[in-house]
Amino acid sequence: MLEEQIKQVQIAAQARIEDARSMEALEAVRVDVLGRKGSLAQFSKAFGKLAPEERAAAGKALNAAKEALESAFEERKRAFDTEALNARLKAEWIDLSLPAPGPRPGSLHPVTQVQMELEDLFTSLGFAVLDGPEVETEYHNFDALNIPATHPARDMQDTFWLTGGNLLRTHTSPVQVRGMERLGPPLRMIAPGRVFRNEEVDASHEHTFYQLEGMMVDRNVSVAHMLYFMKTLLSAIFRREVTVRLRPGYFPFVEPGFELDIQCLICGGPGCAVCKQSGWVELMPCGLVHPNVLRMSGIDPDEWGGFAFGLGLTRLAMMRYGIDDIRLFESGDLRFLRQF
Ligand SMILES: [Zn+2]
Repeated sequence: MLEEQIKQVQIAAQARIEDARSMEALEAVRVDVLGRKGSLAQFSKAFGKLAPEERAAAGKALNAAKEALESAFEERKRAFDTEALNARLKAEWIDLSLPAPGPRPGSLHPVTQVQMELEDLFTSLGFAVLDGPEVETEYHNFDALNIPATHPARDMQDTFWLTGGNLLRTHTSPVQVRGMERLGPPLRMIAPGRVFRNEEVDASHEHTFYQLEGMMVDRNVSVAHMLYFMKTLLSAIFRREVTVRLRPGYFPFVEPGFELDIQCLICGGPGCAVCKQSGWVELMPCGLVHPNVLRMSGIDPDEWGGFAFGLGLTRLAMMRYGIDDIRLFESGDLRFLRQF
């Protein structure tokens, strides 16, 4: 009698196992039938009332039903596992024959681009490209450039002083001093690099910006030589005619000194924020190297002469690309940088 009931439960359970459409449904059937409180477990409780020989037969039937159902569950479960694996393999399939996406290509900072272009140009004119420290001695940044501590020009280049008396260089001129000291005449060199000023920051002033300074020392160097190089330089930079004007300018390290301005390329003359409404942008201080500067670097001014010039690389990049706010360069804003 009991064996018959066990058989019925087994048949019903097997049908449910076959009908199960998911792992969850299958697990529900397992709990119902094979679980601790499942229907097969209920039979064990009835065993106590049976005669020993009946109990042996019923036990045998119960074990057989359990084994049959357990293997049916395992088989069904394996089918679900295989199905799930196949679905995953299909979904996560990757075509390895496709080219790799690769790293996102970056680009050079606009100032770096202008700098590299100028380095190429000057190298072709026989100039060496020199590098120097951004943390400088007071001597190399000021004294050796004919700017002693009492000189009013020091006020024009307020900088960041470090403990110990060194400073963040206010121009790349100290590299020229180091170049003269090390190389001696005749020499042609440029010194591009980052410089610092203690400035009130606005659309045309930054505390950190880039310069390129150059110098040529040789016998019989005149203003005419200087003008030739400046003109070659500007036509190469702007790839077109630019209107320039030369004004007398005072810089302690040159004599005579000039201020070379170009007509503002942003507004073309009428005036804008970059040119401070004047229509002109100060581009290059230049002049013949002051005899004191030559002498301090161990060069005899009676035998040798030279010209020197400075160029704001940051300002040049603004002119080149029509950028009207200098703060963008150091902002690290990718929306700005990705345009170059
Ligand atoms: Zn302008």
